[in-house]
Amino acid sequence: MAQKLVVGNWKLNGSLAANEALLGACSALAGVDMAVCVPFPYLAQVASRLNGVALGAQTVSEFQSGAYTGEVSAEMLAEMGCRYVIVGHSERRALFGEEDATVGRKAAAALRAGLVPIVCVGESLAEREAGQVTEVIGRQLGAVRESIGAQGLSQAVIAYEPVWAIGTGRAASADEAQEVHADIRRWLVEQGATGQERILYGGSVKADNAAALFAMPDVDGGLIGGASLVARDFMAICQAAMAGGGG
Ligand code: PEP
Repeated sequence: MAQKLVVGNWKLNGSLAANEALLGACSALAGVDMAVCVPFPYLAQVASRLNGVALGAQTVSEFQSGAYTGEVSAEMLAEMGCRYVIVGHSERRALFGEEDATVGRKAAAALRAGLVPIVCVGESLAEREAGQVTEVIGRQLGAVRESIGAQGLSQAVIAYEPVWAIGTGRAASADEAQEVHADIRRWLVEQGATGQERILYGGSVKADNAAALFAMPDVDGGLIGGASLVARDFMAICQAAMAGGGG
């Protein structure tokens, strides 16, 4: 398995000055792949300050061009230097009405432009308590497979982000994450993907729980929200991924 991947999701945060300070204190580490997904207006600034960290965006239009006011295409992101784009983050699903099929079309748009979609999936607390984790994730990923096929899935990164863990300070335990990641990997193989796809864990990853999560055999890295805004914390998480090795 490739070395681990740690992706910062800045969400709706940042300013020219704050980004400058944050990026000035972050630099690429050997032995771990690092990326930051930043708000659209800061792509150019961040692209010029990356120091070996890859660039990404937090969403993308399913459309390529035309009368879609406010949208940003995958081709535009590629032109700005992006390698990654997050699709289907639970905040986009819950707050902006993104449905499973839309997420699939966004993943297809990303691949068309040569970007790597980071496809977010995950259950709510009620769904977990009802024993529906596998079913929910199967439905979310199934819609993506409809759009991009098994071959497309093999070019994507999957992020397992239980909704109850995002921004709550309550991360999944390493065992809970491992169980779902192994399930996702099995599903990918059943669908005809390679099973070598990177599966990231996201949801309240911090400097003090990253090592345990990254030690799990099917946790190939992390998608980091809040802690990616604090350089010391983000770098500590990346260091834990380095120590976690290729798993
Ligand atoms: C996220 O938004 O993708 C995320 C994982 O957030 P946090 O790390 O803050 O829980």
